[in-house]
Amino acid sequence: MSENYNISRIFGENVFSDRVMQERLPGKIYKQLHKTIDEGKELDPMVAEVVAEAMKEWAIEKGATHYTHWFQPLTGVTAEKHDSFITAPREDGTVLLDFSGKELIKGEPDASSFPSGGLRATFEARGYTAWDPTSPAFVRKDAAGAILCIPTAFCSYTGEALDQKTPLLRSMEAIGQQALRLLRLFGNTSSSKVTPSVGAEQEYFLVNAETFRQRKDLIYTGRTLFGAMPPKGQEMDDHYFGTIRQRVAAYMRQVNDELWKLGVAAKTQHNEVAPAQHELAPIYEKVNVAADHNQIVMQTLRRVANEHGLKCLLHEKPFAGVNGSGKHNNWSLITDDGINMLDPGKTPHQNTQFLLILACILKAVDVHADLLRESAADPGNDHRLGANEAPPAIVSVFLGEQLEDVARQLIDTGNATTSKKGGVLKTGVSTLPDLFQDATDRNRTSPFAFTGNKFEFRMVGSRDSIASPNIVLNTIVAEAFCEACDELEKAEDFHAAVNDLTKRLFTEHERIIFNGNGYAEEWVREAERRGLPNLASMVDAIPALMTESSVSMFERFGVLTRTELLSRVEIKYENYAKATNVEALTMIDMATKQFVPAVVRYTGQLASIIGSLEQVGGDCSVQRQILDKCTVLLNETSRALEELRSVHKTGAAMPYGKEKAVYYHESVMPAMDALRRPVDELEMLVDKSIWPMPSYGDLLFEL
Ligand code: ADP
Ligand code: MG
Repeated sequence: MSENYNISRIFGENVFSDRVMQERLPGKIYKQLHKTIDEGKELDPMVAEVVAEAMKEWAIEKGATHYTHWFQPLTGVTAEKHDSFITAPREDGTVLLDFSGKELIKGEPDASSFPSGGLRATFEARGYTAWDPTSPAFVRKDAAGAILCIPTAFCSYTGEALDQKTPLLRSMEAIGQQALRLLRLFGNTSSSKVTPSVGAEQEYFLVNAETFRQRKDLIYTGRTLFGAMPPKGQEMDDHYFGTIRQRVAAYMRQVNDELWKLGVAAKTQHNEVAPAQHELAPIYEKVNVAADHNQIVMQTLRRVANEHGLKCLLHEKPFAGVNGSGKHNNWSLITDDGINMLDPGKTPHQNTQFLLILACILKAVDVHADLLRESAADPGNDHRLGANEAPPAIVSVFLGEQLEDVARQLIDTGNATTSKKGGVLKTGVSTLPDLFQDATDRNRTSPFAFTGNKFEFRMVGSRDSIASPNIVLNTIVAEAFCEACDELEKAEDFHAAVNDLTKRLFTEHERIIFNGNGYAEEWVREAERRGLPNLASMVDAIPALMTESSVSMFERFGVLTRTELLSRVEIKYENYAKATNVEALTMIDMATKQFVPAVVRYTGQLASIIGSLEQVGGDCSVQRQILDKCTVLLNETSRALEELRSVHKTGAAMPYGKEKAVYYHESVMPAMDALRRPVDELEMLVDKSIWPMPSYGDLLFEL
């Protein structure tokens, strides 16, 4: 990067942004397109034609040779198929470049290989992608050259959603409508749209590519399946916010540069708690764009790592024994005229609108805690949630001292009359300014924490799309708003009714508020006493999608139909079984072909050393001790390996579905743990030069 590098000049340079559209589209077309983007008006094919032409011209100027409908099937990652702009060569051998409105609006990938959860048989291959004009198109540059990427939704021939984006857009409409209804009740006539905004903080690990390549577990599964703890973990707290090493700094610089060009407002970067762990946070934006941008962030983190001889691990738990990675989902509701509905103001006790909104969110989270938990479930996150470093698998809400106190007043007396204030912190140094203290401290252990003017949902896994959690959040809050509005619209005395309702909701859903230590063992018992669900694993959580209260809510707000929910349930069970199956096979492979032979070699060496020492009457007691220990553990490994082979065989033979997923969770997983234990112990006994792969220490402290 040159000296006169200027962020503001490069920011968004590869985005078909609003400004570009304004410059390149005839005024009338631009206005009509905006009616679709802002008000959801149906798109006129003639408008699409003009937009497509402008988009093509712009993309070709950027060097684009192909375009793609970029979509997010239910695989957790994005999908694309590239088509070049060229048309059939003419008589004179030259080609024209073409991109029609029809090609912009609709694509038809042969979609039979994407998960549909029984929505289509494989012979019914037809699926459609539809342009999402609310998320800007962009030109992505990589080894494939430059590609015009058009964000799209993906649905089946019969119109069912087969992706993350369709229900996300539907849920945005639902919450938008209900939030506006609520604002109108409080006399707001100026706002015309409410949109959920999200900032997704992305955690990741970086390891040396060379070291990564020597570990089949990382290659096949994204996490280590074996590995003894190194002498040093994260106990010194010297990595968190530590100085960023030069090699990582160079990587981050390129990541930022590429993200900025794509219009992703990468803002904050720092070292995280675990060694080799880092975080990147962009500035919040509308949730559908945030979801697209988070996919771009993950792809960019991965690709740039390769260019730096690094590997970026996005798995939720790449290493046992040190912190895993999450994706904090910061969520708020913002009007088109800039009002944040989650802003309590300085004196929250007087802000009746805010208190009602807060009470509705408490109700939503309490009533649908199981759904929220489910929305963060993926096979990797099972190793993180509830593992004493990530939020527990129990959903609760942290309000903080100030708001909890206001809630307390409402519950106890029916009236809130004061708000606690933050004090002034005396630094004790005359040259330093005094700091104004926030009215509320933070709580890192809470899965759903109020942080000033937004809620931070911390359960989401680092590798997962943020679509599911936000589909759930938007819909459950839409339902709570809707029920509140139904009641308040009928009230004779609005202000008395708001007060009563707020008090009632706080009282009825008080059990979901928890400001204490979410990692503590007592909390698990306390939560049980309160009747809060504790869904420890993904297979425990999936049924939440199909409860009557879930199905009727999703159908009522037009977000997901029963059929679509069913298909998602099928896909989730299948994903779980498949992911665990790959892990089990990888463990069998590594143990059989790498660990057992290494230990055999080492014990053989020890035996021959013992033999030679005995011949000359030397002391070989230590060698014998090591040999005995290794032999015991080798036997244990061999038994565990046979057991894993056997349960895996049973599991693999079962048809896909709930039963299979449960079997993988309850029988295959424990057999995997039982194999890991003796191997990790052996790693601490066997000569390092014989151990067949890099250790945790090599992976975590190499950069
Ligand atoms: P915190 O200190 O609470 O972690 P940060 O300012 O570091 O907050 O922001 C964390 C993430 O939350 C960022 O992605 C930021 O853009 C996002 N964020 C900030 N305010 C809001 C808001 N009102 N709505 C949604 N996300 C927000
Ligand atoms: Mg945060």
